[in-house]
Amino acid sequence: MAILGIPILENLYPVTMDMWPVQAKEFNRNWQFYENLKQGRFTTTKCKDCGKVAYPPRVICPECYSENLEYIDLPTKGKVISFSEEVRGVPLGFEAPLIHAVIDLGVEPVRRLLTRIINCPAGYLKEGDEVQLAVFPVPPHPIEKGKQGTVMVERVFFAFEPVKKP
Ligand SMILES: [Zn+2]
Repeated sequence: MAILGIPILENLYPVTMDMWPVQAKEFNRNWQFYENLKQGRFTTTKCKDCGKVAYPPRVICPECYSENLEYIDLPTKGKVISFSEEVRGVPLGFEAPLIHAVIDLGVEPVRRLLTRIINCPAGYLKEGDEVQLAVFPVPPHPIEKGKQGTVMVERVFFAFEPVKKP
């Protein structure tokens, strides 16, 4: 992850400036969520003991504290219920407009979801618009892997984007 313009950080990995989740199996028990994203699947966890579906995915059931969970697919399309657009003063690492929306996935149990909307110019999005899952690469992060030394781990993250292209 290159930090341009800050010479002391060039060729280093500034962990405190990394805003993306560590996704490697070795460090994140929810790694399967990100593996599924890489295949275009939007998933979360369901408890095999009591049936509780939780989003975001968990490692322990919030209902019965079981660790016996499985991943289930969620819809990859939804409709915009409400949204906000930041056009100025967006946080470092983001580009304007920074759009957040509450979307309706149409089915229980994870019906409403707060997500970022990308690939969408300011003023384009309307309530009721159809949006779809958009998976994108984010900078890899280094992990130490025994004799292999430092290995860079590929990462992805997700947002939603308008189905109808601007
Ligand atoms: Zn449970």
